[in-house]
Amino acid sequence: MSPKSDPYWWDACLPGASAEADMPAELPAKVDVVVVGAGLTGASAARTLAKNGASVLLLDAETPGFGGSTRNGGMVGGGHRLSIDELTACYGTETAHALLREAHCDSLAFAKGLIAEEAIDCDFHTHGRFSGQRSPAVYEETARNMERLARIIPINVEMVPRAEQRREIGTDFYSGGLLLHDHGGLHPAKYHRGVLDAARRAGAVVSAPTPVEKVIGSGSGYRVETPRGPVMAGDVLMATNGYTRQSFRPLMRRIIPVSSYVAVTAELPEELIRTIMPGRRMIVETRNRHCYYRLSPDGKRLVFGARAAMHQVSQETATRTIRGLMTEIFPVLDGIDITHSWNGRLGFTFAMLPHVGRMDGMWHAMGFSGSGNAMAPYLGHKVALAMLGHKDAETAFMKTEFPTRFWHFGRPWFLPIAHALYRVLDIRDDLRRAH
Ligand SMILES: Cc1cc2nc3c(=O)[nH]c(=O)nc-3n(C[C@H](O)[C@H](O)[C@H](O)COP(=O)(O)OP(=O)(O)OC[C@H]3O[C@@H](n4cnc5c(N)ncnc54)[C@H](O)[C@@H]3O)c2cc1C
Repeated sequence: MSPKSDPYWWDACLPGASAEADMPAELPAKVDVVVVGAGLTGASAARTLAKNGASVLLLDAETPGFGGSTRNGGMVGGGHRLSIDELTACYGTETAHALLREAHCDSLAFAKGLIAEEAIDCDFHTHGRFSGQRSPAVYEETARNMERLARIIPINVEMVPRAEQRREIGTDFYSGGLLLHDHGGLHPAKYHRGVLDAARRAGAVVSAPTPVEKVIGSGSGYRVETPRGPVMAGDVLMATNGYTRQSFRPLMRRIIPVSSYVAVTAELPEELIRTIMPGRRMIVETRNRHCYYRLSPDGKRLVFGARAAMHQVSQETATRTIRGLMTEIFPVLDGIDITHSWNGRLGFTFAMLPHVGRMDGMWHAMGFSGSGNAMAPYLGHKVALAMLGHKDAETAFMKTEFPTRFWHFGRPWFLPIAHALYRVLDIRDDLRRAH
């Protein structure tokens, strides 16, 4: 039987399902803020805006949470893609350190606080994250970088040498790992539902499916055009990340919508689970191919994500690729049933960092570059504070670059080429490792 193409998470929590109120009879004629996109960023921003007394209309083109927010791997924790040296060269020491602190510590603390404050029941735990190192050289480099990072920000990390990694994971595929003790996992659809419900409770009005087709400057505000009629807004926040559409071309040209694919196995015998995932960690790795996997919240299945391709491929092809990647790491899973297999779109930036700012007067917070469960609600909150002129609005992510390239017209025609290039780099690394 072919696997279900909807996310496994939707079995327990369908996006928008609790939302009888998500289609108000009429859209309000005028609000303080229209938020475009009701994922984690938009829902978190709407919550903060409404809690501070703003009238907020939160619109989604599909159901709220239809995007990455309910399709993701459910790993929560901070991180950064650029090295400390790259960040410092680009932004100077002070901003680089602020970016590291916000990416690793502040965003994670915000997400944990949000879950606690709003009593979000989302199977959240802090079992830690194990990052499998692809080669001894990469292991050594990571160890050096972590030592430097620990001198800049408080992080709770440990290097696990190859000889000891079987206490964490039942494979010899990696050359040891980095253990991030404060990271954890959650059920992304329940998490998103919790943040959305908190925004509703604070007074935000949600309407979906209501695509925003156009935003036109009008007097001191904006006319937001939707198929359900126009809405006048004092401010507009774009929170559309990897799902940004052509009608917002300047943003679309700055976001690279990279596909990511996830498959879930059928329930596995307890003994097998203990063998392959003894540490019950969230697992990521340093390959360009980048597999990420974990146990399902009930501990019975393996949830396995991978960049089967950076562009859109058929779900059948993606499932086949994921099966191959999974059995390369755990040969014992050969032939195992896959019950769900789906994909979603990440929003990368050319700077490899999220960005908060304004374009043509409209605000945006996007470009989470693959890591949004903590950062998206955090920066949604920060951009909302900035819109309110609040004293705590400051974030170093307002200083990150948000460039485009002359060859990025909007549609990501270049992703199949980038995917092929990364495959070649991984094969080269494998060959080096073998010799
Ligand atoms: C497969 C996958 C695995 C991932 N795994 C992890 C993980 O394990 N850990 C982690 O931290 N992050 C992970 N991420 C990243 C994380 O999911 C995202 O960074 C985060 O969800 C971004 O949230 P968002 O609200 O900005 O965007 P989204 O949740 O993508 O929401 C954008 C919304 O905008 C709406 N929209 C677009 N255009 C319009 C319009 N014109 N009008 C109205 N609405 C519009 C869309 O319908 C969509 O609902 C993963 C992402 C994917 C796809």
